[in-house]
Amino acid sequence: MDKQIQYIKAGWMIDGSGAPVQRNTLLTIKDGIFHDISPFHKNDSPNSSLITDLSRCTILPPLTDCHVHLAISSATDPQSRKQQINATYEDCKTHITDHLHYLFSHGVLAVRDAGDRSSHALRYKRQTASATCKKDPVIIKTAGKAWHKKERYGAFIGSSPASSQTLQDEISKNLGCIDHIKIINSGINSLTKFGKETAPQFSLEELQSIASLATEKKKRLMIHANGKLPVQLALEAGCHSIEHGFFMGDENLKRLADTDTVWVPTAVTMKAILENLEWHKGPGIKDVIRQNLDHQLAQIAKAKQYGVNIAIGTDSGCSGVIFGESVVEELKLLIQAGYSLVEAIQCASLNGATLLGIQEIGLLKKGRPANFIVARATPAMLPRKLSYLEAIYLHGKPCSKAFFNKI
Ligand SMILES: [Zn+2]
Repeated sequence: MDKQIQYIKAGWMIDGSGAPVQRNTLLTIKDGIFHDISPFHKNDSPNSSLITDLSRCTILPPLTDCHVHLAISSATDPQSRKQQINATYEDCKTHITDHLHYLFSHGVLAVRDAGDRSSHALRYKRQTASATCKKDPVIIKTAGKAWHKKERYGAFIGSSPASSQTLQDEISKNLGCIDHIKIINSGINSLTKFGKETAPQFSLEELQSIASLATEKKKRLMIHANGKLPVQLALEAGCHSIEHGFFMGDENLKRLADTDTVWVPTAVTMKAILENLEWHKGPGIKDVIRQNLDHQLAQIAKAKQYGVNIAIGTDSGCSGVIFGESVVEELKLLIQAGYSLVEAIQCASLNGATLLGIQEIGLLKKGRPANFIVARATPAMLPRKLSYLEAIYLHGKPCSKAFFNKI
């Protein structure tokens, strides 16, 4: 028997492509790669003593979170959030390490960072990339900092161009080591007036110049946009993803369906505020936040109907939006909006990995690395049981359970 070959029997398998759940599957892994994935038959199987038995488990691809702020903690009290603005890299470093561990524990093995004002996440990525033993192997793609218009929303996570500089000039200077460009093109949701929209931060011409720069430099472009006009301009300019997209409206959803642009709805941000209302007091606030969430879920339902490509992102680092478990919460919200379990998992695996431009995870398929997560559960117990994973396999080998469960 070739020592490099392993066999794993999985009770249920969700492959990440949106295909139906497969029952009783035999995975053959050779040198850390899926060599074969076939239905399991008792009679023609290899010697049972050589099989790892996961017949009571569901296996699925590692998850992705396409919108996080690694350098910002999910603290809910305003004082702590304020202090974070001027935190030093040394202060942030421990938080980032913790956040990556929470992500890894939930099987989230790749993230797209949407920026922090001092580019701490970028510095962390560069410093740890050279470390020989990476504690939590989460792939990080980062924007460094986000870009916003002077005196508009965004100072918490980014910078605005100096008055003597264009947006394009500023971004050009900072392109070297980032993975993608993050632009903020609207405000954030009002918690006191339902459906309030804000003006775009940048003109179509400015956004088009950034889209051209991104294409030329082979960087992806993510644009924060809520409301009809900010989203419309972002789509017309040509971006890889619309972040949030609250109140974008039907026409923009149809536009999204006609393009390759991915929508990252981050509905869990509203749910997290609802759960932490003590920090958001005021008349009618609870109703407005609930309406914001319901409206976003209705938009997600329409997106499914129109065929919009959605990737899961959580905005972890926002108030009450916790790293790792928020991916599970966002999956639940997609299902609440009408997605099936396998469709929701596709948004958190293949769709996310494609948006991040990575091949290592996203799909369980012959020829791909044998990276997968294991829930001791039937599919009916998902997504809930993703918060208590049984195992994480990297290149066919299980990570130590004591290690990844230690929170
Ligand atoms: Zn964000």
